[in-house]
Amino acid sequence: MKATEPVSIAIAGVGKIARDQHIPSIGRNPSFTLAATVSRNTHVDGVENFATLDTFLEERPDVAAIALCVPPQVRFTMARQALMAGRHVLLEKPPGASVAEVHTLKALAEEKGLSLFATWHSRFAPAVGPAKAWLAGKTVRRATIVWKEDVRRWHPGQAWIWEPGGAGVFDPGINALSILTEITPQPVHLTAAELEFPQNRHTPIAARLAFIDAAGAPVTADFDWRQTGPQSWDITVETDAGVLALSEGGAKMAIDGVAADHGPEAEYDGIYARFAELLATGASDVDVSPLVHVADAFMLGKRIVTDPFFE
Ligand code: NAP
Repeated sequence: MKATEPVSIAIAGVGKIARDQHIPSIGRNPSFTLAATVSRNTHVDGVENFATLDTFLEERPDVAAIALCVPPQVRFTMARQALMAGRHVLLEKPPGASVAEVHTLKALAEEKGLSLFATWHSRFAPAVGPAKAWLAGKTVRRATIVWKEDVRRWHPGQAWIWEPGGAGVFDPGINALSILTEITPQPVHLTAAELEFPQNRHTPIAARLAFIDAAGAPVTADFDWRQTGPQSWDITVETDAGVLALSEGGAKMAIDGVAADHGPEAEYDGIYARFAELLATGASDVDVSPLVHVADAFMLGKRIVTDPFFE
């Protein structure tokens, strides 16, 4: 592959995020050509589709990379198969249904000399980089995450989110944790959690988490999928030098109540620019820290059974 030629890439799982973000971002990035899809049920006009990953891997050895936009429960098997077949892999978040899966994939990519990119799209939100830069060198006194949205609005018909491995409210909540772990100067660890499970579902509809950072500052997170009306995706960090407020999932930032400047929304364009960089340099980018916090919440969390959920 010459450096100037676009990389042929396939997408597996043509669902909401593939159509809303991956396909448009690949189309805008001259480093990539969308060469194929793997979908059991649908296709993208003008792009060859394969009903199974097996047939795709067999029939299209020319496609160097694949973006896995499938639910987390099937991600590991597909990623492993693609790496074994010599393809670079981009993983939607969360990178696995368990932490160990991701460690295995990372080792396999290394062994095969392939790039593995565990994406965290919220880290590419426009205010996240500026927030990280502003927090560098400051002392955090307290941080608060409020991530509350309406599951019926954002996840209609997605049965997998309620199945084991689907993560429930952590599916959006992990986006907040991906921002927290990116911007705060000290690592955090979970000390306590409460998880609310609808009595007819396998994954939580709400979670309250308590962390401390390495210097002892408290961090709390409140995730809830029952929020109707205005939606909240907010992170507030109190420091020795002022209060940072990130809102709209990292799209906006204010310091002591004054809005700060940053670029426009381009999360997935940022993801594909980064993937191109990884491919060009033969590197991988696999950070499991947001997933570790979710796993810890399931390990340490007190289980509360709540009202059944019906879509
Ligand atoms: P989705 O709309 O349910 O699409 C997932 C697609 O994966 C399905 O359309 C299906 O496509 C395919 N698939 C393959 N095996 C499957 C299985 N066993 N069960 C169900 N679907 C299967 O989900 P999504 O919202 O795009 O989310 C996919 C991943 O992206 C998730 O990990 C999610 O956390 C992440 N994500 C989603 C969003 C969002 O806004 N929705 C944002 C960021 C990240 P085929 O019919 O083509 O086979």
